[in-house]
Amino acid sequence: MDREEYYMRQALALAEEAAAAGEVPVGCVIVLRGKIIGRGRNRREEKQSTAAHAEMEAIAEANAAVGSWRLSEAELYVTLEPCPMCAGAILNARIGRVYYGARDAAMGAVGGVLNLFVEPFPNRPAVVGGVLAEECAAVLRRFFEGLRAYTSEEADGVRKQEAARPAEDRQPPGEC
Ligand code: ZN
Repeated sequence: MDREEYYMRQALALAEEAAAAGEVPVGCVIVLRGKIIGRGRNRREEKQSTAAHAEMEAIAEANAAVGSWRLSEAELYVTLEPCPMCAGAILNARIGRVYYGARDAAMGAVGGVLNLFVEPFPNRPAVVGGVLAEECAAVLRRFFEGLRAYTSEEADGVRKQEAARPAEDRQPPGEC
């Protein structure tokens, strides 16, 4: 296994952990001179925080590990293309190199929707996309397929209960 693949697998393990906790599975690690100094996974539901993305958590942990907001020597590995918020944090942290797995056509800020890293910001990172892309996309696909199966079962259950109740119990719409 090469180096890029090795670290992306560490990020994937964190994405799987997110999925198991009912979060959209995205994982991230930050590597400095061959050592992982930051780990993060999506915790948006757990924290009910808009900012609780995998990259934000990994950057915060890396900042604490080196005692600096500057991460210019570090490399970031994330399973999903960074969104504008995280791409902005990557620029602010001056991270030198970014590896991402799956493309994000909905929120991606590294080519999916737009590409912040080609704009004339100082300290733009080098970018390698598509590392273990298929596996990174598959973990997301499985999560959303599971979610759909669950919600349609739930919906079926609700419809059956509704049908079983006597008509006079039912509230007219808007009066419950
Ligand atoms: Zn993000």
